[in-house]
Amino acid sequence: MEYIIGVDIGTTSTKSVLYDMKGKVLAYANVGYKLYQDIPDMAEEDPEDIFEAVLNVMGQVIRKSKVNTESIKGVSFSSAMHSLILMDQNNHPLTRAITWADNRAAKYSEELKKNGIGSQIYAKTGTPIHPMAPLSKIIWLRHEKPELFKETKKFIDLKTYVFFKLFGVYKMEYSIASATGMFNIFKLQWEKQALDLLQINANQLPELVEPTATITGIKQKYGELLGLSADVPFIFGASDGVLSNLGVNAIDPGVVAVTIGTSGAVRVVVDKPVVDPDGKLFCYALTKDKWVVGGPVNNGGIVFRWVKDQLFAPEKITAEQMQVSTYDILTQIAEKIPAGSDGLLFHPYLGGERAPIWNAYARGSFFGLTRKHTRAHMVRAALEGIVYNLYVVMLTIEKITGKPKSIQATGGFARSKLWRQMLADIFEQDVTIPESFESSCLGAAVLGMYALGYIDDLSAVKGMVGVTDVHHPNVKNFEVYRELLPIWIRVSEVLEPEYKEIAEFQKKHSN
Ligand code: ADP
Repeated sequence: MEYIIGVDIGTTSTKSVLYDMKGKVLAYANVGYKLYQDIPDMAEEDPEDIFEAVLNVMGQVIRKSKVNTESIKGVSFSSAMHSLILMDQNNHPLTRAITWADNRAAKYSEELKKNGIGSQIYAKTGTPIHPMAPLSKIIWLRHEKPELFKETKKFIDLKTYVFFKLFGVYKMEYSIASATGMFNIFKLQWEKQALDLLQINANQLPELVEPTATITGIKQKYGELLGLSADVPFIFGASDGVLSNLGVNAIDPGVVAVTIGTSGAVRVVVDKPVVDPDGKLFCYALTKDKWVVGGPVNNGGIVFRWVKDQLFAPEKITAEQMQVSTYDILTQIAEKIPAGSDGLLFHPYLGGERAPIWNAYARGSFFGLTRKHTRAHMVRAALEGIVYNLYVVMLTIEKITGKPKSIQATGGFARSKLWRQMLADIFEQDVTIPESFESSCLGAAVLGMYALGYIDDLSAVKGMVGVTDVHHPNVKNFEVYRELLPIWIRVSEVLEPEYKEIAEFQKKHSN
């Protein structure tokens, strides 16, 4: 038997899975680390913690699976997007890894949007202008930490750091590069306008390679530690988002991946890079011939958590005493209310919003309340509102990719049958729930199999991903949603100009 390891470097932990070449899982490991949030808007990680976690999970899956290390044919990587580490002349980090969740560059991304340079750069890079992206972060560092900026030899990301430690070279694959805001997705090279704006040159960035590129020659001490010989190829891989599309079998044209975990996303694979005229969608590389267009949403399951904690605290206590999930109880409560919540609409923007409106000031609202409405209506309206918002992202994507054919849906929401059916009814699409386990690790492994010639096509993933549930749209329900959606969309447009003032009021009066 021959095996491959997938490693996924995430924001809170690194995961690894050892697979056989048919995608069967032999061993799994997960190691967490600290997120540094010493001051408001900061979200950093220690690159050494991450490197140690990577070694640790790889070692664990090799040991747990008990496979002969000579039968391990490759190690392939996924990682979170948008991280930034500044490296000095001696190849030591000058900063921790500044993650996507770090918001300190907000002022500079706002400026880029206002002065129009942002949209020019977006049109070439496909990365929405946002503090999450290294583009905005480097501008922030140049202005606010000029001494660090001056000392920087290389601007890299977490995955590049891990490969540097293992192999001593600075290389970044197109997928992570395409999420920096500095990479021209049409020319597959660093974008001059972005570099000029940042006042850096291409030598200060890693060398670019394809996601399927491989490297051998792991440093002896790490090879010995893991029991891997220097000729085992490591595949550079891609970012977690695009690999998750692959890992849930949303790889064919028209198959849309919808995720509702804590946050959410809608993503679809296309075969050429494309950008959205309004700058509201991302376009990130999976390989040089497959690109993922989509929108990330802040307000996913975290909103249901708010409903549970703030509106249903007594039920939460009862559920805990009965040792059942409060979410299941709330789902049962919502089930008694008809589709459309008797005309109660909810805009789920409790934490500002990225796609579809890209407005950090956005706030939540119930609209259409009458004396007839109960807390049960509010739960159902909240679940519906989260899905309406994702549907609006889908409408934006549809304009460039055409109508979807079906949906592969994942995330914590899939535990609720009601919520899964709601997705099918609001999107008017068949929804399949794949049997997904660490989909980004599987995506990395499948990309690795492809890079090493074990499979001819990425669609081989089909045979590796099972199905747990399938839902078809219910005509009665989707007719109700068709009536309500235009109202929901118009109300959000009407509210949009009001968000900033109320958010500033809240900030001014918060203590
Ligand atoms: P993460 O995105 O952090 O990995 P998950 O994918 O596990 O997290 O999603 C967590 C969310 O899933 C919760 O915030 C909640 O909204 C939702 N969730 C968890 N359990 C249930 C359930 N039994 N029914 C419905 N939704 C649930």
